[in-house]
Amino acid sequence: MSCQRCGAETVAFRVPEALGEYLPDDRPGAELCTRCLAVAPVDDPPEENPDFRTVSDAFPPNEEAGAALACLLALVESLVLYRAEIEAVATDAETRGADVLLFFERLAADDSLEPFFDVERRTRQLEQFL
Ligand SMILES: [Zn+2]
Repeated sequence: MSCQRCGAETVAFRVPEALGEYLPDDRPGAELCTRCLAVAPVDDPPEENPDFRTVSDAFPPNEEAGAALACLLALVESLVLYRAEIEAVATDAETRGADVLLFFERLAADDSLEPFFDVERRTRQLEQFL
């Protein structure tokens, strides 16, 4: 599949069951763009989650934490609208061993990405409510 925003390759993943209710779309999976980090829903995600580190080294090796962080990327564009959802998903990612703010800092430092959102600005905003 390719990204609807920038045309780059995407990786499909299964939305963790506990997080589905926080996402704006209720489909079971989503795809993450390997270049701009846009997330779009998909109907038939793979059984096995991808290695999110093929997208960026900013992702932790734990794919459950990776999937939670990818869900977070689906929400950051609308930080104000989804504030409660972002808090819930970020908390879930942290219980799975991810460091959310460190993840965003590392995304900002990854030159192979061209994120569709202003990562540094979003990181500063996230800092205020995590
Ligand atoms: Zn893209």
